Amino acid sequence: MERVYDGRLPKVAIVGAGVSGLRSADILTRAGAQVTIFEARDRIGGRVHQVENGGHLVDAGSNWIHGTRGNPMSRLAEKTRTVIMEPEEGSVVIDVTGKKRTEKESGELDAEFWDTIVEAFKYSDENSATIDVETSLFDYLSEVWSGKFGGDSGRTQDLKDDSRMWGQFVGSPIERQSLKFFFLEECLEGENVFVASTYQKILHKVARPALMKANVRLGHEVKHIQYRQSAEGSAVKVRLADGAEHEFDEVIVTCPLGWLKRNKSSAFTPPLPPRLSSAIDNIGYGALEKLYITFPQPFWLGTSSPSADNSQPSTDTPCFIRFYNPQYHPDPASKLSTTWNQSVVSLAHLPPPTAQPTLLFYMHGDCGTYLTRLLAPHSPHSKPYNHLLQSFAEPFYSRLPNYSPTSKICIPTSFYLTSWQTDPFAGHGSYCCFQTGLAEGDKDIEIMRSTAGLGDNGQGLWLAGEHTAPFVALGTTTGAWWSGEGVARRVARRYGLVVDEEEEEMEEAEKVDEIVENEGESVGDRLEGEVSEVSIGKSMNGTALGG
Ligand SMILES: Cc1cc2nc3c(=O)[nH]c(=O)nc-3n(C[C@H](O)[C@H](O)[C@H](O)COP(=O)(O)OP(=O)(O)OC[C@H]3O[C@@H](n4cnc5c(N)ncnc54)[C@H](O)[C@@H]3O)c2cc1C
Repeated sequence: MERVYDGRLPKVAIVGAGVSGLRSADILTRAGAQVTIFEARDRIGGRVHQVENGGHLVDAGSNWIHGTRGNPMSRLAEKTRTVIMEPEEGSVVIDVTGKKRTEKESGELDAEFWDTIVEAFKYSDENSATIDVETSLFDYLSEVWSGKFGGDSGRTQDLKDDSRMWGQFVGSPIERQSLKFFFLEECLEGENVFVASTYQKILHKVARPALMKANVRLGHEVKHIQYRQSAEGSAVKVRLADGAEHEFDEVIVTCPLGWLKRNKSSAFTPPLPPRLSSAIDNIGYGALEKLYITFPQPFWLGTSSPSADNSQPSTDTPCFIRFYNPQYHPDPASKLSTTWNQSVVSLAHLPPPTAQPTLLFYMHGDCGTYLTRLLAPHSPHSKPYNHLLQSFAEPFYSRLPNYSPTSKICIPTSFYLTSWQTDPFAGHGSYCCFQTGLAEGDKDIEIMRSTAGLGDNGQGLWLAGEHTAPFVALGTTTGAWWSGEGVARRVARRYGLVVDEEEEEMEEAEKVDEIVENEGESVGDRLEGEVSEVSIGKSMNGTALGG
């Protein structure tokens, strides 16, 4: 039943000032709603966040734009003159023994890996209904490569080692990547670009309207939401950590999926409907961490000077370095794990003026967990913190060209490791993923996206956030933006409010509606229609990590 607009502007609370919450606030304030954002942290941005390391600004969370075509993040990057880099193809492999593979070998492994990933997407798309829930992407790839190159061949082993890099895309080991719902990892068409000057200006642009027109309450953690039993019920009540209670007509919860998993039983009255609760349990939540190491100079580029205009580093070392699981690492913990492989990006390859003598390591699984626990007692940049990170990272970076233990330029000047998995407001992790055991992943997402109808039924509770995004943008900033936008428009519609908007945004909103509508078709139909609009943007060329 439509909730009757009684001549008073609706009061809407948004829990969380990440990209989804900020976007919701923008749309709703433009529609005339009175919006309050409760944000637990003392800053906005959520998983879009910058820190300083070694005199350079770096992204602790999101760093890539996945698929530039029709992507609002690309538009925002352009509008804000954010510097982006479309990385060149190619990467170098350091194998399990610490040996650097030739350019040709590295290239062949890369090409075979991504070709098989494309096949895996197609297979998952076409056969999702019949694929066993326990079959992993790793099972699929191993079978393909064993059939092609022989189960015991060195080539098959290399490729299996290579495939563990998948963990750095989703924040969870490849052995746990569901093949059945692998197609949900597909993303928008276009290039994957690295946001070289960081997401800072994009975040400011996204936040500006909310900061100007909404009541943004930083440092206000929401503990409990009492939503309406039925459309006829009274106000929705939001209780904060300090015990204060506030009343609203509608509440949009953008807390991360990991937060919902841990808090859904205590945070909502009445309890969430069983199917919504199980959807929250079913979808996986990854744990990706990033380690930045800054040196006096980018020794891995060699000693010759860059080009005169500084646009091209003079080096044979490509931007991407893939360290397979290191048998040579002295830390005994590395021997107990298959997730000590590292995907490394050389930030010395970024375009001027953003280039910096920094290596960015992406890690996942128990390697990241081990390191974050080890560092927990120490404050960032303290002596023991730096010492622990150097002991961890040196066995890797010492394998790079031109390394010399006695050279000053090879001794790091600064380290920074993220710790999303210890952060309660990030839900103790990074973003949603699709793990083995998942039986109805697409339906689970749809149930979360619709909040099991609670909002549309007039009960005043709506979920938004990257985990509720259109399939092609799950886990990304783009998805967070679209989810916030979608929910805000639905809320506005309930009250008959008109969103005062720019034409290009109207077109964008229509496109998202279209994408989401297409998701209702069978997976096969989707492949015929929507997927032609979509590519494996997140993974194309092995260049886009995270999100
Ligand atoms: C390491 C890492 C790398 C990533 N890389 C990429 C990438 O390259 N490209 C990409 O597109 N995406 C990437 N992502 C994902 C991207 O950052 C997220 O999808 C996106 O930022 C999520 O936005 P959101 O609004 O859904 O959630 P969030 O940004 O998490 O916002 C939710 C907000 O809610 C707040 N909150 C939580 N609990 C409460 C509470 N109880 N009360 C009040 N407030 C609360 C949080 O503090 C937070 O500000 C990455 C994420 C991580 C962690």
